[in-house]
Amino acid sequence: MDDQYIISELEQLRLISELEQLRLIQKKTIELLSTDKSDLSSMINTLGSVDNATKKISELLAKKNSIPKDTLEKLHHELRTPMTPILGYTEMLLAHKFGPLNDKQMEKVQIIHENTKRLLDTINSLDDILSPVQNQDDKKDDKKFEINELKQEKKLIKKLNDSWVEQLNNSQKEKDEFLKAVKNSAHEKLEQDQEKMILGKSIKIEQEKNLRLSKKHIITIVGATIVIAVITIGYSLLVVDLVGQQYQVKNLGSIKSNYIVQNLKGDTIDTWLSWRLVDGYVINVNLIDGQKYPDKADIVKTVILSEESIEIDNSLLHKGPKGTTSTYYVGWTGALEHTNPTSLYIPHKFNIIESSKGEGDITIKLTPQSNGDGYSGYTKSIADDSNNQILKSEITIYDIDKLSKAQFETILRHEFGHALGLAHSTAPEDLMHPTIETDYPYISSCDVDAMVSLYDGGKKSKVTCKI
Ligand SMILES: [Zn+2]
Repeated sequence: MDDQYIISELEQLRLISELEQLRLIQKKTIELLSTDKSDLSSMINTLGSVDNATKKISELLAKKNSIPKDTLEKLHHELRTPMTPILGYTEMLLAHKFGPLNDKQMEKVQIIHENTKRLLDTINSLDDILSPVQNQDDKKDDKKFEINELKQEKKLIKKLNDSWVEQLNNSQKEKDEFLKAVKNSAHEKLEQDQEKMILGKSIKIEQEKNLRLSKKHIITIVGATIVIAVITIGYSLLVVDLVGQQYQVKNLGSIKSNYIVQNLKGDTIDTWLSWRLVDGYVINVNLIDGQKYPDKADIVKTVILSEESIEIDNSLLHKGPKGTTSTYYVGWTGALEHTNPTSLYIPHKFNIIESSKGEGDITIKLTPQSNGDGYSGYTKSIADDSNNQILKSEITIYDIDKLSKAQFETILRHEFGHALGLAHSTAPEDLMHPTIETDYPYISSCDVDAMVSLYDGGKKSKVTCKI
């Protein structure tokens, strides 16, 4: 086997997974574009997610020499067709077919357009790699077939494009009917043309050259037309499973955490605890020596202060059917600021300071050292055990130079839950599980419920999640 065909299984899996991701994003994009063209910002944002996926695929394809030929062939066919409607849409956006774009939008769409084109060029350049290894007869047959295809496409598209562009300006209802008709006639036309071709029309080299030049343009419009027609006929549920998929965090590994509670004598105790604060109290969180790790400060702010809530499809979380979602929170402020009233005040106002001294109600220490027991995060709470009151919490995050941003964000989000009084969760898919294994490491509604119960006299700090 040639060295250039050797590729690790991991690399291939990654390719397939990225490809799948790109396809799903494309479906969502096309759904949005085909239903509501009045919201230009959403259109552009959605195209932006395709753009991100596109860049990844481009990077992977840059290593094409190390990808086996059969994998390349598969990618060649599967990637090219779905990319083209996206290109068509960006072109229409740039031509103001859906209304005027401001300078910023124009710039963004232009970038998306360039990246999409680049990926298409890369995919088309795979021809050069694939064709020389075919034998001459195959090559000849393939060429004939390709020319037949192109000829069919060109005829079809000339007809479709004229009517389609005009039709875009008509009402939605008229458009639906038109696209149905387009699809039917396209199908018939393809069949008729194929028959004629098989009967043996000779193809001239000159024709081949011209057709090659127009191939890209033709494919763009064919792709867009057919995809829209299919969607118009009936496309709804496929996109629902995408809700929240962009929040997936991959390659987290298994992150281990531990926490302990000590009383004022220094003995380790095992009991429920909560903060006892006056209403509206602002908890001071000290990021000790934060200036040594400037890139971590923003993540600390996100984990503690973000008010963002996100919806994630239950099928991605393995806890319900497609189309139903669960709410998660990115930061503890957002998770706790709108809870139902509780007998004790739930801390949800935080002030982040950076001081080298140990001041603050909660301290966060970042260290390059490793924990002897393999923990990435560790929280120690000092408590007045006569009334189950937390007096101070100290969070330590280990191996700070080795943790990825996502790992750091995740372990801190978990440890901050301990600092506010939560114990571990028994559910493996939960953020508060002792070993964080979920791909969606955000604050769940069962974490919030556990907090509400703790501060409402529940006398229990363990997190239990009902399914
Ligand atoms: Zn923990």
